[in-house]
Amino acid sequence: DKIQEERLKYLTDTKGIKAVTVLFSDLEGRLHMLDYDKKFLVNSYDNLTFDGSSIRGFTAQKESDLRLGLDWNAFYWTPSDVFGTGKVMVFGEVIDKNGAPYAADLRGILKQYANKMYDEKGYTLNAANEVEGFLFEGVDAERSYHKTGSFEYVNAGGYYHSLPGDPLREFIDTAAEVQRAMGFENEKDHPEVAPSQFEINYTYGDVVSAADQIQLYKLICRQVATQMGMTASFLPKPVTGVNGSGMHTNVSITKDKKNLFFDKAGEENMSDLAWSFIDKILTHGNDICLLLNSSVNAYRRLDPHFEAPNQIKASATDRGSMVRIPIGNEKSARVEVRSVGPDANPYGVLYSVFKTGLDGQVGNIENLRQAARYLPDNIYTAIENFQGSEWITSLLGSDVKERFAELKKASADRCPRLLGTVVKGSEVQFH
Ligand code: GLN
Ligand code: MG
Ligand code: MG
Ligand code: MG
Repeated sequence: DKIQEERLKYLTDTKGIKAVTVLFSDLEGRLHMLDYDKKFLVNSYDNLTFDGSSIRGFTAQKESDLRLGLDWNAFYWTPSDVFGTGKVMVFGEVIDKNGAPYAADLRGILKQYANKMYDEKGYTLNAANEVEGFLFEGVDAERSYHKTGSFEYVNAGGYYHSLPGDPLREFIDTAAEVQRAMGFENEKDHPEVAPSQFEINYTYGDVVSAADQIQLYKLICRQVATQMGMTASFLPKPVTGVNGSGMHTNVSITKDKKNLFFDKAGEENMSDLAWSFIDKILTHGNDICLLLNSSVNAYRRLDPHFEAPNQIKASATDRGSMVRIPIGNEKSARVEVRSVGPDANPYGVLYSVFKTGLDGQVGNIENLRQAARYLPDNIYTAIENFQGSEWITSLLGSDVKERFAELKKASADRCPRLLGTVVKGSEVQFH
């Protein structure tokens, strides 16, 4: 197609480019990257294969070869001081033997769903995520946590608090600058509530780019932090007793440039479509919880005292609610799903939120929007809910559903089960 032709020509014509980094994510959302030499890629872009059995959640050993397609729309220029000279990035899509999107590559599944909604209904699915993280002393903070059992803050700040020369401020400035250079449309950035915590916000985009940008954001933050001799961590609750890190997921739907979630006459200025979306998310809250909170540590974050909701309800004001309706206008009206951890697979998060909000059922639950219902307080319950859910089978298919549950069980089993206590290091996952 046209965009592919253009990109290939650009690669060939641009002398400074030597290699193309292809990015894709495993079933748990861990980002994988491999570099192809430019000339090889230009000649062989339609025949790239890799060994799927070495990627978590992908194929079993006996059927290990998978194909890698390139999504030329997801093409990024990379600043050389951060990513090395002469490289550009493009997101890959994993393709199975029959040429279809591979079921465990949730990026492909999300894209297929977004395209379907556009073709069938003219819907454009939009998302903006607020990804919070911590900056800790030392390049190896997550790993050394295994030994020391603690993290070291780089400053003692707090919400919006920064002084000149503050390492957290310097980190935020550099990361934001790298984002701008890569084409992110930044909106604001600031130190968050907990000491050493940060958040950088960029504008919403179509759901696939939004998920890609989460992966890039985390990569950029990690890279910049390492260059400063520090660690950017996206653990949901690295430190007890202070706020954890969330990945609030803001979503809306537009059609012919009109925001379908807005209705001036509706409750909270939201349309019937928006309210039905919310009701379906609440109905299926326990089904999809594991996709939104996928680690042992994520359940430590879900404590309303730290603005991290465990209540399955909707509210315009109460930040302890799974779903919040931020004040907005015709342009910004959106639904905010707050019970999401930054170490979840972003493709799985956005796919499950949109498909549930649009195609889910509204349960026969009395006072659905305000009922006293809770998300699980530990990953084992979340896994049980997930496995027992027919809705999840229709989202992922039974094969991928089982694989995801197995991976999560295995990671949970690696953590000693001492509820209410932080167990040294055991729950650190590198996402
Ligand atoms: N850190 C909180 C959370 O875990 C959010 C706090 C905020 O954005 N003000 O979700
Ligand atoms: Mg925010
Ligand atoms: Mg925040
Ligand atoms: Mg928010």
